[in-house]
Amino acid sequence: MGLDHRPALRSGRRHRGVYRRAVIVVIYFEHHKITTKGNWHVGTVWPFRGCEVEMHEEGFSCTCKKRPTTKCNHIKSVELGLLGVGQQYWK
Ligand SMILES: [Zn+2]
Repeated sequence: MGLDHRPALRSGRRHRGVYRRAVIVVIYFEHHKITTKGNWHVGTVWPFRGCEVEMHEEGFSCTCKKRPTTKCNHIKSVELGLLGVGQQYWK
């Protein structure tokens, strides 16, 4: 049903990018006072309820959002902990 009535839409470009769904987007967030490159915490994972924050050479990542656009509270919490500003963690 349907397809034969829309031959004009059968273009190769229509499906461009369909395979990119498999790519996992990892966004790194940096902190202006924390240098993550070469930091001994690189590779450290901070577990939270339902997600994890990990420090990479490029910055922090968190698994709570598939496509994070802003730094989440988990990352902020880890940063504050590293900076020694309070010890209150978001759960
Ligand atoms: Zn998070």
